[in-house]
This record gives sequence, C-alpha cells and structure tokens, in this order.
Amino acid sequence: KVCILRLGHRPERDQRVTTHVGLTARALGANGMYLAANDTGVVASIGDVVERWGGNFFVENDVKWKKCIREWKERGGIVAHLTMYGLEVGEVVAAVRERPEDLLIIVGAEKVPGDVYGMVDYNVSVTNQPHSEISSLAVFLDRLFMGREIEQDFPDAKIRVEPCKVGKRVIEL
Ligand code: SAM
Repeated sequence: KVCILRLGHRPERDQRVTTHVGLTARALGANGMYLAANDTGVVASIGDVVERWGGNFFVENDVKWKKCIREWKERGGIVAHLTMYGLEVGEVVAAVRERPEDLLIIVGAEKVPGDVYGMVDYNVSVTNQPHSEISSLAVFLDRLFMGREIEQDFPDAKIRVEPCKVGKRVIEL
C-alpha cells in the first residue's frame, strides 16, 4: 500500500494544488491521501472523481500529522518525505522497492515543520532544485512503479476514455 500525507494545506489558497496532489496520487497508483487540515471541499472533489472514474482511492480529512506518521510506523510502514534537501530519488526508490512494507509519502505546501525531516525513514529529492509537490510526487510514483502504473485499471468506473489520435471520446459504462 502507498499513501500520501499532505502537510501545510491552507484552505484559502491551496485547494486546487491539494486536489491535484490527490488526483495525481490516484492516477499514478497510490491508494489514498491523508490531509493534515480540515477541508471537506478537497475531499468532495476527489470523491467525485473516484465516483465517476472508478477505483478505491480514499481521502481522510483533518488528520493530525504527527499521529499519522507515528501510527503508520507502529503498523510497520515506512515513511518518505519529498524535499529538495533529500537523497536522490533513484537511490531511495531502489532501496524502497526492495522493501515489502507499506509506504507513506509526505508532501508539503509552503514550509514543512522541521521535525518532519528527522521523523521519516527517507528524505528524498527529485532534483535539488525547488519546484512543486505535484511534480515531485508524479516523478517519485512513476519511478517507484517503474512506469507500470500507467496501465492500471480503475474498477467500477462509470466513464472511461476511449483514446483517439484525433478528437475525444468518452464511453459511459
Ligand atoms: N520551501 C518549502 C520548504 O522548504 O519546505 C517547500 C515549498 S514547495 C512549493 C512544496 C513541496 O514541494 C515541498 O514540501 C516538497 O514536498 C515538494 N518539493 C518541491 N521541490 C522538491 C524537490 N526538488 N524534490 C522533492 N520535493 C520537492
């Protein structure tokens, strides 16, 4: 199991980015997202996508982040924090892929509390340049799953895209 813990979400300005963190996680093979803030709007918009496009991706609203990390570890899981200050992604993914444990991936918004850096098993960077939680998560998941997540099926979908070279086609199931 692979889940995301989203830190630092500010409902007044991060709704769109946090929703995209969740949708990216879902599309690229993760199982769910813990949101360390209270924002039922984000939960509803991701829930709406799951309802129509299928799969079992969950969003848990208003978690306490320290408790979330602690409980994940108590259940035997490992924790990786995406940060430009971490070890190179290829190195971490190679180590994590060998391990059977569930993986929690932490992404921040503006500034991540300093404690996080010491609480996790791996701080991992997708380049040492500043960019975004969405791009770093996408690259990390794609590396972790070695590109195979692109072919996954989403069970119980109500709609599905029929890929086409020209135009666009959506099938109601
Ligand atoms: N300046 C903030 C800090 O030092 O914590 C980070 C702000 S950045 C817009 C938001 C999030 O994007 C970070 O918390 C991290 O999860 C992710 N991120 C940004 N650049 C990254 C990189 N090069 N590698 C991995 N994650 C990155």
